[in-house]
Amino acid sequence: MSVSLIGLTLGELREYVEGLGEKRYRGDQLFHWIYRKKVAAFDEMTNISASFRTILKKNASLEALKEVTRTISLDGTVKFLFELADQCRIESVLIPPTQQAHDCENRLTLCVSTQVGCSVGCVFCATGSIGFTRNLTAGEIVAQLLSIQRIIPKRITNVVFMGMGEPMLNYSNVLKAVLLINDDRGINIGARHITISTVGYVDQIRQLADEGIPIKLALSLHTLDEEKRKLLIPIAKKYAVADLIDALMYYYQKTRQRPTLEYILFRDFNDTEEDRRRLIELGRKLPCKVNLIPYHSIDFVHPRGSTMELTPVPHEGIERFAQYLRDGNLTVTIRSSSGSDIRAACGQLAVFQQRYEELYV
Ligand code: SF4
Repeated sequence: MSVSLIGLTLGELREYVEGLGEKRYRGDQLFHWIYRKKVAAFDEMTNISASFRTILKKNASLEALKEVTRTISLDGTVKFLFELADQCRIESVLIPPTQQAHDCENRLTLCVSTQVGCSVGCVFCATGSIGFTRNLTAGEIVAQLLSIQRIIPKRITNVVFMGMGEPMLNYSNVLKAVLLINDDRGINIGARHITISTVGYVDQIRQLADEGIPIKLALSLHTLDEEKRKLLIPIAKKYAVADLIDALMYYYQKTRQRPTLEYILFRDFNDTEEDRRRLIELGRKLPCKVNLIPYHSIDFVHPRGSTMELTPVPHEGIERFAQYLRDGNLTVTIRSSSGSDIRAACGQLAVFQQRYEELYV
């Protein structure tokens, strides 16, 4: 059986080549070609002998993911639908810089999926509505980046684990993927340019803090009101908001990275004066940033209506909410709605391949 080399660490590649009767340094060469040069064929590995390349071609593969469709938004966001070896499908989203970004010219962000579907079932999220199939391997996570980087000339500078799935429920594969993406002998994306987003698994947040890699952490908070949070995110019944905040504080103390509080604004639900006041109060205790996110309708996965009536806050309302928080000394950004026209914005990934074809092909 052919072994996929994408997803193997340097140590694993060294072991692999030794198993084929080669010297360890051949593993270093493979690591360089796979992750630094991002080659798609063994024949491109020019410093590896023809005889060893033949052995590799027989025993191993460099195959990335099979691209099914590529949908391009009016704002330049690109959504890729990939098919995995077992025919499961996932989506990845390439996000161009927004005008406000300070490093606007060079930034190119890739949002990767970590699971096929998701078991958490947040009411505002399309992925949650399709259920859970399986975890992605580290190789399948890294392959999203390699597949896309092989076809675009511009360098991907940032990776956010905010696609389909809850990263903390696939912890070991996500961590392995982070280490591969961060490794300066390979893909070399700095820790501060990698973000993991979670709906709030307290134990894993603490575990990640202890790993000693100062990546960024984003928490899908959406409200500080315990009861309201339970209505939005089922696992909020298990983890109290106070425990989450303690875990974020721990993360900050260990990594010196200020966590980002993701806050989707829902009209007349979490946009009240009381909500703003509580956020400001929290900002006095916890070094953090707030990212306000416009709500994008997911009616397309709830044709008969979702379990909750959630409606977006108009743009002026989001700006007012942001200003109030800034006046309270919070660092606030407003996430752009990049890709919402192709259902690639926050919470909209649901592998509705058939609908895309009807609409775009
Ligand atoms: S928001 Fe994240 S955790 Fe919640 S259902 Fe969607 S993918 Fe899963």
